[in-house]
Amino acid sequence: MPITGDQAREIEAQRRTRSETRRATVPALEEILYEPIPVLDHGFVRVIDYMGDDAAIVQAARVSYGRGTKQVSTDRGLINYLMRHRHTSPFEMCEIKLHVKLPIFVARQWIRHRTANVNEYSARYSILDREFYLPDSEKLALKKTLAQQPALFEQLSMAEATAAQSTTNRQGREAALDPAAAAEAVRKMREVANRAFTAYDQLLGEGGRPAVARELARIVLPLSTYTQWYWKIDLHNLLHFLALRADPHAQYEIRAYAEVIFDIVRRWVPLTAAAFEDYRLHAVTLSARAREVVRRMIAGERVTQETSGLSSGEWRELLAALDLPSPE
Ligand SMILES: Cc1cc2nc3c(=O)[nH]c(=O)nc-3n(C[C@H](O)[C@H](O)[C@H](O)COP(=O)(O)OP(=O)(O)OC[C@H]3O[C@@H](n4cnc5c(N)ncnc54)[C@H](O)[C@@H]3O)c2cc1C
Repeated sequence: MPITGDQAREIEAQRRTRSETRRATVPALEEILYEPIPVLDHGFVRVIDYMGDDAAIVQAARVSYGRGTKQVSTDRGLINYLMRHRHTSPFEMCEIKLHVKLPIFVARQWIRHRTANVNEYSARYSILDREFYLPDSEKLALKKTLAQQPALFEQLSMAEATAAQSTTNRQGREAALDPAAAAEAVRKMREVANRAFTAYDQLLGEGGRPAVARELARIVLPLSTYTQWYWKIDLHNLLHFLALRADPHAQYEIRAYAEVIFDIVRRWVPLTAAAFEDYRLHAVTLSARAREVVRRMIAGERVTQETSGLSSGEWRELLAALDLPSPE
């Protein structure tokens, strides 16, 4: 369970509180304020606070005296322009504060994004719950047997949680393991993590034995242990985070968080989210040489990797970007 009964009651009490304000609020975001949105097996993301909306970006771009809003279509046009031309500072006028519960190995990737403010739960002062992440082996097993059912298969596309090491990308995974191998891998992970947590409890002095300081006892815990933090970031830097972590090259587990956060962004600043998807997330950048290749293709020339002047990696990426089949 991501949260306990007491925590759920605290959240409920907070959700009942109402504050009067002249500031801009976003009804779709207010709807989910404070609520934990589940991610992975024990994690969550909660919106704790936010500042600004799409209109605030327009307002800042125009350095306006009032709200800055004209018509939605005008605002959309301006936001698209700002996104397209990387005029980024108006997006920095919006901020969001999240409470995130995440495995430590995900936190290690996440913390590399230096442009946020972070305060993490301290395992020097508090005892960590016996909560660790385990990849979902059942969904993996399903993924194999559902290969003939595209609709269901599509829903499971993010559930490549335990998969074989990729042979083409040293950081990635490839085909799903067969169900028995996946179950065995997860069983081993569970066993090792449980053993580590038992050692942790013993070091903390369980059963009247002398205790080791919490700051030292924790060093036996696995990278799958859940931690928590408050994370505050402006919209410009959040979009940069999402561009890197909602990308298929990112590890599945951090991508699962990025996708939940992106849904939050869609509620919060829908015009900006749409512009970001169009001009950044699903856009491609071409090198000068790749652009020349595209120009030659449009002119009717049959270009091959050998005649393109591109490396085999660049050539593969260009074909993928243009949705062109890769020649065998
Ligand atoms: C798929 C993937 C694989 C990765 N693999 C590895 C890996 O194997 N090993 C590894 O160590 N890391 C790895 N990383 C982390 C990566 O190298 C970046 O550290 C991380 O993505 C944060 O990116 P950032 O610096 O752009 O973000 P932020 O820290 O949020 O910074 C945002 C931007 O601010 C600017 N900025 C911030 N701080 C500075 C600074 N001190 N100096 C100059 N400019 C600054 C830069 O323009 C930067 O792009 C990986 C990341 C991804 C997405």
